[in-house]
Amino acid sequence: MVFTRSRVVLVVVLLAASAAALTASGEAPSNSVSAAPATSHPILQYSLPPDKLAHSYALYRLDATLYFVTSVWSFLVLFLMLRMRFGVRLRDWAERTSRFRVVQALIVMSLFTLVFELTQLPFDIHRHYVGLSYGLSVQRWGSWFGDWGKSLLLGLVFVTLLGWILYGALRRSPRGWWFYFWLALIPIVILVLFVTPIWIEPMFNKFEPLSDHHSDLVAQIERVVHRAGMDIPPERMFEMKASEKSTTLNAYVTGFGSTKRVVVWDTTMEHMTTPETLFVFGHEMGHYVLGHIPKETGIILLQLLVLFYIGYRLATWLVARYGAGWGIRDLSDWASLPLLVLILSLLTFLATPAFNAVSRHYEHQADQYGLEVVHGLIPDTPLAAAQAFQVLGERSLDYPYVSKFAEFWLWDHPTIRDRIIFVQTYDPWGEGRQPEFVKGAP
Ligand SMILES: [Zn+2]
Repeated sequence: MVFTRSRVVLVVVLLAASAAALTASGEAPSNSVSAAPATSHPILQYSLPPDKLAHSYALYRLDATLYFVTSVWSFLVLFLMLRMRFGVRLRDWAERTSRFRVVQALIVMSLFTLVFELTQLPFDIHRHYVGLSYGLSVQRWGSWFGDWGKSLLLGLVFVTLLGWILYGALRRSPRGWWFYFWLALIPIVILVLFVTPIWIEPMFNKFEPLSDHHSDLVAQIERVVHRAGMDIPPERMFEMKASEKSTTLNAYVTGFGSTKRVVVWDTTMEHMTTPETLFVFGHEMGHYVLGHIPKETGIILLQLLVLFYIGYRLATWLVARYGAGWGIRDLSDWASLPLLVLILSLLTFLATPAFNAVSRHYEHQADQYGLEVVHGLIPDTPLAAAQAFQVLGERSLDYPYVSKFAEFWLWDHPTIRDRIIFVQTYDPWGEGRQPEFVKGAP
């Protein structure tokens, strides 16, 4: 939620790394700002009316609990697969069926993924049920199951390819496979980022050029774009028909190279005023012009390289010690799959705070960019930005008093509370300084 571009990047990269994708949600950091307010009115704090506050607290507790419970559950499932020699059965079946590695990969990877995803399905269903009961989602069950099936099919194609590459590397280089697999991942991740907006996202949502129904807004946006001396042609601005499925607001930047684009949910334009929407667009524009997708992808890939190396050491040691008991000949044996996925899932889980810290950094930078780029173009920027966050938080029932721990582990954006304060106190103009990203007078 809340401007989810980074989440898309994280999910893409983690998907590439593991069938058991662990994704975090939310927002986060608290810089208790004592600077002079940039606004003439008293500082607006993020707050919710009592009924929404109660709901937001319940959701906050539930989301965090579900996150940790489903993580532990997935580790348990993988461990049981290992103990019950599920990988051994898949291997035996695959080796009996074909001597071609790619066919074996198809059998092992797709059956493994299918069974694993089915063990996660009750939690996915529960999560959607919660979204419906709190009014955050309006997606019917039929459509929801359709989406689930589509993601599963996409996942099967994807993990088969990855498994084929991974075990090819494992067979050829018992010591260097983690590095070669990582190298192979780079073009795959870039390709996935490239095709996501043109092939994958349209499978789940409808998109149309923003100018089709919001030519007035596009004209306003172009003023903002020119203000920054930047070039985001209107062909790269899209409206997503989110209202068929969701009641929350969002906007994001997606794609890579020639498919890079800004997407604004129709719900955002429906519930925000034009100045508020322009600030949101300014934030997304920050991601776009500051190249956050390639930068963040690069950092995540480097983090993954470290995880792969640790995983390699750990897996080698575990197989030497327990491999015989688990029926694993060596790491390059298909039977090691549950073990490799378990190790990678555990490491990814432990590294979640590191992934999220990177994301929060770029989100904060985008907030700052958003303020700078609309400064002077809309009447009261601090107020408009604060109100945008208020609307955003209220619609997604974001709890105002997030704990430091939840923020550290789960929030991939700064908390709404901190963002609202930041936008009202960031004032380089009043302090006689040059803004960092968007220079020159409005
Ligand atoms: Zn963002």
